[in-house]
Amino acid sequence: SSSESVVSYPDKKAGATVWVRVALDVPLQGLFDYRCLPPVNQGDRVIVPFGRRKLIGVVVDLPAFPELDETLVRDVDQVLGDLPALPADWLRLAAFAASYYQRPLGEAMLPTLPVPLRRVGAYQGKRSAGGPVSRLDRRAGKTPAFSKASAQEVAAQAPVLNTAQQTAVDGIAQLAGHGVVLLHGVTGSGKTEVYLHAAQATLARGKQVLFMVPEINLTPQLEAVLQSRLAAGGEPCALAVMHSGLADGERLAAWVAAHRGRARVLLGTRMSVFAPMPELGLIIVDEEHDTSYKQQEGLRYSARDLAIWRARDLGVPVVLGSATPSLETWRHAESGHYQRYTLPDRARAAQMPRVRLVDTRRLDLDQGFSPQLTEAIGKRIQAGEQALVFLNRRGYAPVVNCASCGWVSQCPRCTAYAVLHRGPGRRNTLQCHHCGYQARVPTACPDCGDQDLKPMGRGTQRVEEYLAECFPEARIARIDADSTRLKGSAQALFSKVHAGEVDILVGTQMVAKGHDFARLGLVGVLNADAMLFAQDFRAPERLFAQLMQVAGRAGRHAAGGEVIIQTDYPDQAVYQALLRHDYVGFAKYGLAERKAVGLPPFAYQALLTAEAPALADALAFLAQARALPEQASSSYPTVSAITLYDPVPLRIVRVAHVERAQLLVESSSRPALQSFLSIWSLALHTLARGARIRYHLEIDPLEI
Ligand code: ADP
Ligand code: ZN
Ligand code: ZN
Repeated sequence: SSSESVVSYPDKKAGATVWVRVALDVPLQGLFDYRCLPPVNQGDRVIVPFGRRKLIGVVVDLPAFPELDETLVRDVDQVLGDLPALPADWLRLAAFAASYYQRPLGEAMLPTLPVPLRRVGAYQGKRSAGGPVSRLDRRAGKTPAFSKASAQEVAAQAPVLNTAQQTAVDGIAQLAGHGVVLLHGVTGSGKTEVYLHAAQATLARGKQVLFMVPEINLTPQLEAVLQSRLAAGGEPCALAVMHSGLADGERLAAWVAAHRGRARVLLGTRMSVFAPMPELGLIIVDEEHDTSYKQQEGLRYSARDLAIWRARDLGVPVVLGSATPSLETWRHAESGHYQRYTLPDRARAAQMPRVRLVDTRRLDLDQGFSPQLTEAIGKRIQAGEQALVFLNRRGYAPVVNCASCGWVSQCPRCTAYAVLHRGPGRRNTLQCHHCGYQARVPTACPDCGDQDLKPMGRGTQRVEEYLAECFPEARIARIDADSTRLKGSAQALFSKVHAGEVDILVGTQMVAKGHDFARLGLVGVLNADAMLFAQDFRAPERLFAQLMQVAGRAGRHAAGGEVIIQTDYPDQAVYQALLRHDYVGFAKYGLAERKAVGLPPFAYQALLTAEAPALADALAFLAQARALPEQASSSYPTVSAITLYDPVPLRIVRVAHVERAQLLVESSSRPALQSFLSIWSLALHTLARGARIRYHLEIDPLEI
């Protein structure tokens, strides 16, 4: 309720100042007290002096007394009244995120605000002119907060729900307050339709909807669908979109619209979980298993997990949708902790695509293609359908090799290969995908001088080149991080595919997710085996999800869809489960295996990573960190429930001249781990002081 955030104080003395406790984005534990002239509320943003600088912070409390001696307490410079105070539930979310992910509150909270709202220069100084919000309001026409996605392409007519969809919609509607719903639906089963009905009902109750998707490129198609389907009474839906591809001003506009309650639906990527929404009534997390929900720098949060926490805190439902739920989520569905609804069949073409494994062990491959795959592609394009070739490796070839001495192209700054890229006009470069290093391809071997340098293996560029030779008439499009670097280019390419202006699509995981391609009949998968034997224990789960996703692009609107997977290991459990579209069997097997060896979701983990110019220093820091609890065991009441593993170098040990090592921490009890980490993380802060070390502590890491 709004009254919680308004605190008034009786006059204490002449001047009637109050104390405010402020969260600031500084790498220091704790909060900072200031003296302030009312009116000021919890959740207000304030400009305060900090050392010789000025900073914008958030008032999290109005304490009766400051922590410091009153004479040392400085004055708030300015209370920013340009927006309503941040609501109490938003402050709770930030506080939870900070404590769960073991970061100072200000460091967790402030970076979630749009940049202009936390930049002093936007409010004070020559060019400030009333601040970013008033500028935004003046230019409301130019920086629209609401999406203007054209709804024409989308059929206005809503399909009649099938029984499984209706059951799910009814189940969500019957949740009185909080509940986690897992919507487990095969690809193309019509999960979006269920989300739409749940959203409609929520909007009709006068509540806001937060709709999260893992990837920016999924927003435009969905934006148009939501726009046309959630319009009510002739009024377009007040839909705001938020993702990292927006300019600062656009993101600010969406954020402010959500905060003021004007945006009724917020469609966004992981960052949107932190948008203040005063009337939030439903959260949807589409493709909940997707690792893009994990933030990999700064505050390393899981947007899916925070969405669940936020929904519980607010007493509202959260719907997690996926064809291949994470094993964490699946376990909760199995135990009845989450409510599960299953969409077992495709909504349009009743059949799932046929999966074929092509055993490549005894085959002569032509540029990585089996005759079966090449022939199948030819047939599809003859029939006027589209084919997708999926290869999770961009560039032309992963490495260049000297035939006479064995030299291979390596990044001089990293322990990684330098990847061959074809540029315009055959200007080839070697590029490092880890640090951004770029160089010309040498004309002769740097070691032996031989001129016979050859690309080894293949990436999407080389596959595109090969397909152009095989099918000279076909229109080919490549979609990967390179071909979509310019703003709007990904959207342009996807639009061409939807419009039928492409016959063969070559792409990385960018094309695997979510897209509803009407004409796509065949999916071919190259080089899936590369992920099969990765060290990470989640690799099979990820590979299975990825292949189910990409396979799910085939035959969505017409029967006869087909998937061809080339592999040297057709007997592997992952591939066998794929043949049968058997997520349930795969998950059962996966959970049993994890349980037997005590891995997540049956254990909880944290990962301490240290970086230094010399590996020995990183390892030494970790060894000291590991010894801390032994040296002061009485300070760590739960240490007996914690396993601290040996420090080890990362697989790619050096990136941009920095060497990296990590230390895994594990417990079968989440509270025990949290208690341990809250003490340990403070000790690490002290330990790192003065050392030439950078470190970060990640909770629930996805990659180990
Ligand atoms: P998912 O998100 O589960 O992969 P979508 O929601 O994209 O699947 O639905 C796949 C296709 O089926 C879409 O083209 C959608 O319009 C259509 N569809 C969904 N529900 C129905 C239904 N009840 N009847 C007919 N078509 C449907
Ligand atoms: Zn050589
Ligand atoms: Zn590099």
